[in-house]
Amino acid sequence: MSDAEDPAAIRLAAVRDSLDRAARSADRDPAGICLVAVSKTWPAEAIEPLLVAGQRHFGENRVAEAEAKWPGLRARYPDTVLHLVGQLQSNKAAEAVALFDVIHSVDRPSLVTALGKAMAAAGRWPSCYLQVNIGEEAQKGGCAIADLPALLAAATAAGLPVAGLMCVPPADIEPAPFFALLARLARDQGLAGLSMGMSGDCETAVMLGATVVRVGTALFGAR
Ligand SMILES: *Cc1c(COP(=O)(O)O)cnc(C)c1O
Repeated sequence: MSDAEDPAAIRLAAVRDSLDRAARSADRDPAGICLVAVSKTWPAEAIEPLLVAGQRHFGENRVAEAEAKWPGLRARYPDTVLHLVGQLQSNKAAEAVALFDVIHSVDRPSLVTALGKAMAAAGRWPSCYLQVNIGEEAQKGGCAIADLPALLAAATAAGLPVAGLMCVPPADIEPAPFFALLARLARDQGLAGLSMGMSGDCETAVMLGATVVRVGTALFGAR
């Protein structure tokens, strides 16, 4: 089977294409948008075709699952960049720092403290996104909007390299206002990175300034 016929390569090209079009329609450089392939729940055999097709940024939402899957794949694709996109417990901070290159779910002072200690101990500083509970939903991870300045100050003081903000907007309603709000909060805080947009809304997110989109279903199929 040639690359052109590989289903994973076809899906990857289609997603990349729609992100590039969204970027150009917003007068942005497509090269400024990082596509993270969210491979949670998928085994190594499902991930490898995307690696073969050239994809290098991958996202996982559980530390233990990533520890089981990635060391083997990474040995063969050492330039892989691993992103943690799920909630992180403070007692897993050291494991997360050892494994991940980017952490998207920094959302509370206790986690900032744990990550700061883990990074200093490991001598490894994965870049971090502060997750904002942009729809102020009771069940959702992310810091309250009002708490963001204090969380950023704590993260900076703890030595975390803060790249930007991340959000998951409320399900089943138009996400654009939430993306626009996250973009404004990042601008207010002087942060350049915006991790926002998933399979259903990544083009909208790109039009509103996303620098990182996290796409699972559109690349791997339904979980
Ligand atoms: C699962 C997940 C994604 C990917 O979602 P899809 O709808 O499958 O693209 C993105 N971000 C986070 C935080 C996730 O947990």
